[in-house]
Amino acid sequence: MYTFTDRGDRSLTLRPEMTASVVRAFIEHNLGGQSLPVKLYYFGNMFRYERPQAGRYREFWQLGVESLGSPEPAADAEVITLAVKYIQDTGIQKATLLLGSMGDEQCRPAFIRGLVDDLSSRSELLCDDCRPRLEFNPLRVFDCKNPGCRAALVDAPKMVDHLCAECNDHFDQVKRLLDDVGVVYQVDPMLVRGFDYYTRTTFELTSDELGAQNALGGGGRYDRLVADYGGKPTPAVGFALGVERLLLAVEALGEGDNIEKPYTGVYIAVVEDDARSLAFKLATELRSAGFSVELDHMARSLRAQMKSTDRLGASTVVVIGPDELSKGEVTVRNLADGTESAVALADLAGHLGAVRNDNKKV
Ligand SMILES: [Zn+2]
Ligand SMILES: [Zn+2]
Repeated sequence: MYTFTDRGDRSLTLRPEMTASVVRAFIEHNLGGQSLPVKLYYFGNMFRYERPQAGRYREFWQLGVESLGSPEPAADAEVITLAVKYIQDTGIQKATLLLGSMGDEQCRPAFIRGLVDDLSSRSELLCDDCRPRLEFNPLRVFDCKNPGCRAALVDAPKMVDHLCAECNDHFDQVKRLLDDVGVVYQVDPMLVRGFDYYTRTTFELTSDELGAQNALGGGGRYDRLVADYGGKPTPAVGFALGVERLLLAVEALGEGDNIEKPYTGVYIAVVEDDARSLAFKLATELRSAGFSVELDHMARSLRAQMKSTDRLGASTVVVIGPDELSKGEVTVRNLADGTESAVALADLAGHLGAVRNDNKKV
């Protein structure tokens, strides 16, 4: 985590994720007092202190949802389906949904004892980070990418094979609901999250476009977290997606270039300086009418103003020239097709509105 001491000698940590913050807000503002489940989303920057690498930065953005209040498998399936749909909507088609279960307080302790016994018998395979984990947090070994640790886990017991009847039934229902709506998944027995507060469903979304650093995001059920933070016991499920990862995957598809540029901005250019106050007045009026408008504030020549239209991506230029002005008109040039027309000042907003609608149809 990104932890430092401030000038008042206080230890501060920049938030590494949002679920804990959402749970804190849920308790502090008594959101559980309303009709459940409470469905929340967030989009924000997070921080971690580690060596930056492709798609992993010290400041990164996450978007996520949390559904608090329901223990039902349908809540898990709803949240998972939303994550899958969101990724598909970005254009990423080759994403894989990995699904697992962490069990609960009924079946997990016995599983962990079995896991520790098993891994202890092959502890020479484990890396220096993981050997102490056997004592403090053995599930974290599943997060380790070290080849020795991966090898040690191949024959180790898996949580999905040691679920109690209730957890097994819950897991089966989540899978059946996903089958019903055509969401494709792979059960991954190695998919275990290293935090104690996770219970039952866990999932991860990966992209084939991203190589080794292929996780787009993930989530799961965390039925104990609200109570751990001092709230009334409240089952919950949610996910977070890494925004930089999503952007990398979309870029890898080459889709980034195809994203439609919705800008339909208007640039107001003046031929002579004495038209600048009129340009400002027109810009203000058009902005009030809902247009995105730019104009020159740098006393540039007409030629330089026309160059700016390109840089700004304007779709239309309104030219105020001395001849037109004497007739109460301006010249409107459609940059998409190069056509020009003389438009009375009084009709300008209506004319630009029609042009904007035409462009939308294209
Ligand atoms: Zn390890
Ligand atoms: Zn269980």
